[in-house]
Amino acid sequence: MFRRVLALVGLAALFLSLPAFAQDDDLFSDMVFPQDVEATEYVDSWGSLRSGGRSHEGTDLMAEKMTPVFAVDDGVVTIQQTHALAGRYLVIEHEGGWESWYVHLNNDNEGTDDGSAPMDLTYAEAVEIGATVKRGELVGWVGDSGNAEGSGSHTHFELHIDGVSVNPYPYLRRAEAAETALTVMDEVLPAFVITGEPADPGVNTEIQGVTE
Ligand SMILES: [Zn+2]
Repeated sequence: MFRRVLALVGLAALFLSLPAFAQDDDLFSDMVFPQDVEATEYVDSWGSLRSGGRSHEGTDLMAEKMTPVFAVDDGVVTIQQTHALAGRYLVIEHEGGWESWYVHLNNDNEGTDDGSAPMDLTYAEAVEIGATVKRGELVGWVGDSGNAEGSGSHTHFELHIDGVSVNPYPYLRRAEAAETALTVMDEVLPAFVITGEPADPGVNTEIQGVTE
């Protein structure tokens, strides 16, 4: 029994440490994923060429229109506006000089591509400049506003540190892995705890025998 629990803890540790390729052990190593992982598809497209010679400085989180978008960590809303390329977007400032950007949020009325949805179909009610948001809080919905009109609906997600854009992909992978591990723990571990038997006293004897 004890060994099986240890094995599970080891499994969780493995999941948590697998994408250990994020650059630093910083505040953002434990951000939450900004959308439902199961409803999202994404690849590492950092630096890919875009129109006008621009390079892609984010990760596109492809999902159905109106998929909920969540704040990746506690913070304050510093930008909420509409831009020709970015469409309707949102920036949240976090501790340590970090910012998260959520671009191309929804601008369509339900079942249309009319680009004229009211802002309450773009941003969650509590979202406004200066508002405090909590990690994991709903802040808006996936859309195709700005220059995403021609491609599938998605959130163009960016991370900035001290005003410099960094590749968010490793952070997203780590957040995804942490959530997967938590799901495994939630589903499997309680079953062991509930049906668990007292530890075998024989094991203790064995250990003592070794250490003497
Ligand atoms: Zn993008």
